[in-house]
Amino acid sequence: MRFHTAHPDETAHLAPKIVSEAARLQHNHAVIICLSGDLGAGKTTLVKGIAQELGILETITSPTFVILKKYHLPESSAYASQFTYLIHIDAYRLQGGADMQALGFIEMTQDPSSLIVIEWPERIKDALPNGIVNVIIEHVGMSERNILITIKE
Ligand code: ADP
Ligand code: MG
Repeated sequence: MRFHTAHPDETAHLAPKIVSEAARLQHNHAVIICLSGDLGAGKTTLVKGIAQELGILETITSPTFVILKKYHLPESSAYASQFTYLIHIDAYRLQGGADMQALGFIEMTQDPSSLIVIEWPERIKDALPNGIVNVIIEHVGMSERNILITIKE
C-alpha cells in the first residue's frame, strides 16, 4: 500500500491501518512493525499515532538513548485482548542482532502478547523473525512524505 502525506498528523493517522494489519498477523511470537526512513522522516511521529490507536495515554518520546521503552495497553484498549505491551525500540545506536540478544530482545520477540515497533530496523535485520509490517517513510519535501506499507507474513 502506498500513501502520500503532507502533514505530521496525516502520517500519524495511518496508524489505525498499520495496527490492524499487525493484529491480523497471527503468530506464536510477537508481531513487529519496522519503521524505516532517514532522521526526521516521521518514524517517531508514527509511533505516537500507533500508541494512540492502542489507547496508550503516556507521552511517547524517542528512545534514542535508552534504546527501548515498554508501555502497557490499558484494559479499555480495542486491542487489549490481543496485545499486552507496546515495545518501542530505536535501534539507531545498535550494531547487529548480537546487541539485541544482549538486551534480551530475543525473549521479547517470543512473547505473542507484545507488539514491537522498531525505528532503524536495518541495524538489527539479522535478529528479526517473520510476522512484520514494514513501513518505509520517504522524505520528499518539507512536509511531504511517501509512505510504503508491506507485509511479511
Ligand atoms: P524520525 O523519528 O523519523 O527521526 P520524527 O517523527 O521524530 O522523525 O520527526 C519528524 C519531523 O518531521 C517532525 O518534526 C514532524 O513534525 C515533521 N513532519 C513534517 N511533515 C511531516 C509528515 N508529512 N509526516 C511526518 N512528519 C512530518
Ligand atoms: Mg525517531
